Amino acid sequence: MFWAINGLALAQDYDLLLRGGRVADGTGNPAVFADVAVKDGRIAVVGRVTGTVKREVDVKGLIIAPGFIDVHTHAEGIEDQPLAENFLRMGVTTLVLGNCGGSRLNLGEYFKQLEATNISPNVCSLIGHNTVRRQAMGGSFMRPPTEAELTQMKGLVEQAMQDGAVGLATGLIYLPGTFAKTEEIAALAKVAGTHGGIYASHMRSEGESVFKALDELFRIAREAGIRGHISHIKLAGKSYWGQTGKFIAAIEQARAGGLDITQDQYVYPASSTGLSQLIPDEAREGGAEQFRARLGDPAKHAEIVSRMKAALHKQGRDDYAYAVIASYSKDKSLNGLNVVEATKKKRGGDSLDEQVELILDVERNGGASAVFHGMSEDDLRVFAQHPNTMFASDSGVRKFGEGVPHPRGYGNNARVLGEYVREVKLLRLEDAVRRMSSLPATTFQLKDRGLVREGAWADLVVFDPAKVADRATFKEPHQYAVGFKLVVVNGVVVVEDDRHLGTRPGRVIRLNRQ
Ligand SMILES: [Zn+2]
Repeated sequence: MFWAINGLALAQDYDLLLRGGRVADGTGNPAVFADVAVKDGRIAVVGRVTGTVKREVDVKGLIIAPGFIDVHTHAEGIEDQPLAENFLRMGVTTLVLGNCGGSRLNLGEYFKQLEATNISPNVCSLIGHNTVRRQAMGGSFMRPPTEAELTQMKGLVEQAMQDGAVGLATGLIYLPGTFAKTEEIAALAKVAGTHGGIYASHMRSEGESVFKALDELFRIAREAGIRGHISHIKLAGKSYWGQTGKFIAAIEQARAGGLDITQDQYVYPASSTGLSQLIPDEAREGGAEQFRARLGDPAKHAEIVSRMKAALHKQGRDDYAYAVIASYSKDKSLNGLNVVEATKKKRGGDSLDEQVELILDVERNGGASAVFHGMSEDDLRVFAQHPNTMFASDSGVRKFGEGVPHPRGYGNNARVLGEYVREVKLLRLEDAVRRMSSLPATTFQLKDRGLVREGAWADLVVFDPAKVADRATFKEPHQYAVGFKLVVVNGVVVVEDDRHLGTRPGRVIRLNRQ
């Protein structure tokens, strides 16, 4: 901040000046030519800047936008990988953790640890329903909680909200949340709502029962008096494609009825989660021991197999070629192979029965993550065009080169700008920026973030609209996005010319306390 000239220490008016760019300020308004000056971590001037400056960067021909806010991440591992390079290098400056029902239990402690570690992006977190349910209900989940257990769960949510959580998240296809009734979730959502938090849900179904699941989300929002958010909106499974109109009409009707409903989406027609999702919940309930015991019982084994086949056929499929193993620690040679290929390799034959056995075998040996090619590009584009859809990766912090994970963790935001804005022209650039900045900031109530405005935190991304692109593919996901001149977090440059500088200026964002 001080510059020694002729023995005198002179204060500079600004720390950083971006000169000559076009500002897409996050509101969705047309980009304007303006300089942006930063001082003490905040945006000091947007417009014509005069005065002394520590560092000036010529950004002619480039877009200056608010740093992107990724509202749907699983980046709890940032403790071990504080640079979060895959996120920063696609313009993301703030991450929301704790999605799909899984978070750290003690967020107060976790936030302190992150502050002591120093991390590159800003983070905030939801409190996970599965996390508190597991804590309160011990090992038995296929039942409603007792009154004492529900009280304990409410207490855990209350504590998390006091520690600054931005809301409650559910993952209702996962254990143990899948066994929770609507009343239980509404009771917990009410606690989060009292503090001004949001209810974000990986809904109970994204295929066969998606409209029932949506009704449940609306009911929870209404009964708990809370904003409702649909995580990674999609129609999964061929048989359910094409119902986007009905889906959006239901959301619009709920909004017209007084509910505040929003949604996020990753822009790839494939999802990613545990391969275990192909196995019925009841077979896996209670842990690995019980799962193995059920498989050892011929009658139960046959029942599991027949339910798996029925679920597959209901989706309109004859085999599991749409499911690709992403990361299987027991046998890494299967990473990147689809279930049919993996079955052939491990078992010789590749009949449907052999495929089912392979899936059960993987789960028996610790499980694997997988990529499921189960969505339609047409549906994806309809959801992407809805004005309340924000773009979010559903990714964790990637370990470079490890496994064959979903490419969204390296490319999601860049893909929106390169593919859907520039190539396909599905979205206006300013609107795409809005859905990755001010819309998430407003929805998750992140104060003074998401806009290029005087007084806001200086989270900024400067990119070349002609070059910005994702490079990660399903076959070769470990490739960083390109086209980013600068990514700035709280006034500090983290990425320059598509390189992470190793700086760690990120802060923990606590709800109602910034
Ligand atoms: Zn999810």
